[in-house]
Amino acid sequence: LTAAAPSKPRRRGTAAAARVDLLVLDVDGVLTDGSIYLDDLGREIKRFHVRDGFGIKLWCRLGFRVAIITGRRGRALTHRARELGITHLIQGAEAKWPALQRLLAKMHLSPDRVACIADDWPELPVMRRIGFPIAVADADARVRAAAAWVTRRPGGHGAVREAIDHLIHAKGLMPEAVRRYDGAHDER
Ligand SMILES: [Mg+2]
Repeated sequence: LTAAAPSKPRRRGTAAAARVDLLVLDVDGVLTDGSIYLDDLGREIKRFHVRDGFGIKLWCRLGFRVAIITGRRGRALTHRARELGITHLIQGAEAKWPALQRLLAKMHLSPDRVACIADDWPELPVMRRIGFPIAVADADARVRAAAAWVTRRPGGHGAVREAIDHLIHAKGLMPEAVRRYDGAHDER
């Protein structure tokens, strides 16, 4: 069998997805649609998706971890990360794999317990080395080809939430997750 073509998304690995403990997120093109808004003073404005935020909080409430690793820096991201309770925020990372390696050493976590969500080439070295690499629907073709799973939604439009739902489902934890918010789920 040859590798799946980039045009044939959403593939392998429920077992790999079920092992994930740490979800690593890129920012531009994953948590955002890739737009970078600059005002007259050069201050950056970012637009995040509220359901991605909910998914991140849900994932953490279920006892799992999130890290953000981005090559850029910005206060908007710092605010958003604080709002979501994300403590592992690495900005200005020139190379993402060495940054992740340092984090994994601190966490005593092996790469096979990691998922990432990616949209472009800077994430490829990470994708090649971890357990469950995910690409957003509108990711670069090489990134989609390197992914174990591709979202239906594009970056900045709920792709992160969709990926988190997939991981929770793979772990068999969806009923428990739903029960936390929808008590009626128990009473059918
Ligand atoms: Mg990106």
